Amino acid sequence: MEYFIHLRDYNVIVCRKCRYAVLPSRLDTHLASPKHRVEARRRAEIGQEVGTWTGLLRNEADLERFHVPRDSPPAFEALETHQNGRRCRTCPYIACTNQGIQQHCRDQHQWVNPWRSGVKSADRRRAGQSLERPWVEDVVCQRFFVTGPRQEYFEVQPADRLADDDEAPQATQSKWDQARRQLTQSWNAVQAAQERTIREGQPDEVNPWLERTGWASLYGSRPSGPRSIRPDIIPYSRIWRHRRWLSIAGRGSKC
Ligand SMILES: [Zn+2]
Ligand SMILES: [Zn+2]
Repeated sequence: MEYFIHLRDYNVIVCRKCRYAVLPSRLDTHLASPKHRVEARRRAEIGQEVGTWTGLLRNEADLERFHVPRDSPPAFEALETHQNGRRCRTCPYIACTNQGIQQHCRDQHQWVNPWRSGVKSADRRRAGQSLERPWVEDVVCQRFFVTGPRQEYFEVQPADRLADDDEAPQATQSKWDQARRQLTQSWNAVQAAQERTIREGQPDEVNPWLERTGWASLYGSRPSGPRSIRPDIIPYSRIWRHRRWLSIAGRGSKC
């Protein structure tokens, strides 16, 4: 069937496009809605075909016989999956918003939010009162109906892990190839950066030796670039010899 999937174990039909169950009594309205815009003649044909499927829950009154699974089955492919369920620790109720689960815990279990009651956390801890929320978070869940009296969520097994395990070997291989390429590129970049650092660092490594030996005073002040003896600087020993020669030459006179 082009439009609906028949879930025989639950006696419901699920719209392929909307991914939720539709009561056969609402089938015509559903297919006429802006999301589908199926023309009247085709809607009548589909209604007739679905009419031949036995055991279906056809209207809201029939939903009294409807039960959602409570044994965490694998997620139904036909239904939308929600990853953000909050499941009550006291009963199987699941909501997908904090507001929803808080409302449930207040109404059904007389829960008082400790963060709103004005009592400090430390005082509650001393009094032996639990600060733990009365619900579990990140529960994977689904629901059959999104309108009417049976919209409850039920927990399902996450489908993601199965999808990963079933991944095709080619896809895994290509991920390894991609990882190896990225690692090689990173390694090459690190090596290039190291070589650059060594080249740029060479003059600086020589500089302390020049300073220690005093040769730097004879050379240019720039530690890098071509070096040449500066003609304006004369070694001290040469000055001393010059002064001594002057004092001998001009004995008795002060220079
Ligand atoms: Zn639909
Ligand atoms: Zn509850």
